[in-house]
Amino acid sequence: MGITAFFPGTFDPVHYGHIDIAMRGAAIFEKLIVGVYDRPLKSLLFSPEERLALVRGVFADVDGITVTGYSGLTVDFCKTVNAKVILRGLRVFSDFEHEFRMALANRRLTPDIEVCALVTREEHTFLSSTTVREIVSLGGDAGSMVPPVVLAALARRFRELGEGQTVVPMTALRD
Ligand code: ADP
Repeated sequence: MGITAFFPGTFDPVHYGHIDIAMRGAAIFEKLIVGVYDRPLKSLLFSPEERLALVRGVFADVDGITVTGYSGLTVDFCKTVNAKVILRGLRVFSDFEHEFRMALANRRLTPDIEVCALVTREEHTFLSSTTVREIVSLGGDAGSMVPPVVLAALARRFRELGEGQTVVPMTALRD
């Protein structure tokens, strides 16, 4: 039987860097489950339900990828869906340090789940949800960074927050 991998993240919002990692993961593993974490320790622009709906929309027609929301420990959720691998993406060196610490902590908790990290494509090296949010909040065009449905959701959200809204929700530096 093939291996199921779990790709967890905040996806606030999902962008082409995430999508690339998921598609490449789906080409390696028999089944890829994208997990939208409900309450990360960072301020969010979109609710868990909104983030989940956007990720669902993006992968709706992709064979081999399913999308779910989750809460609690990632390794515990992996066990419930029988995923043996946690898939992550690596951009810059600061990602590496963060992913390295998390992988070791997860291994301490659950030794039989492996972490597989794929290196980003060159054109996505700079891409993060924070960058996307900031660009859209300042009126810039993020059309090359996120799918149209995500772009529309961002425009809507910043309209709701008020014209000229340039306050970007705070996030950890590495995002
Ligand atoms: P988290 O809060 O779990 O870090 P994110 O949504 O920020 O959630 O990221 C989810 C995963 O996608 C992480 O492994 C992150 O390193 C990866 N990722 C984010 N942006 C990119 C990108 N531009 N290229 C490749 N991987 C990325």
